[in-house]
Amino acid sequence: MELKTNEEAFCIRHIGVRYICEFCHEGEMKYLAPGDDNAGLFLHRCTKCNKEMLLPKMYPYIEWIPGEKINKEDIWKPS
Ligand SMILES: [Zn+2]
Repeated sequence: MELKTNEEAFCIRHIGVRYICEFCHEGEMKYLAPGDDNAGLFLHRCTKCNKEMLLPKMYPYIEWIPGEKINKEDIWKPS
């Protein structure tokens, strides 16, 4: 693999983001169904108390965070 001019390689780390229930503070809000399309809200249900909630995102979701830079010479270099 070759990097083009101005391209830089970096490590990434994936993290999962979940929403803890506001009612029981123990369960997790999991996406159930589209809620209000116009408002961009999604219906979720708690895995413990079964309460339902509209949230602006679909939980759980995956996010990535940038890590350190990878040297050009180290890309695809057999170890
Ligand atoms: Zn709950």
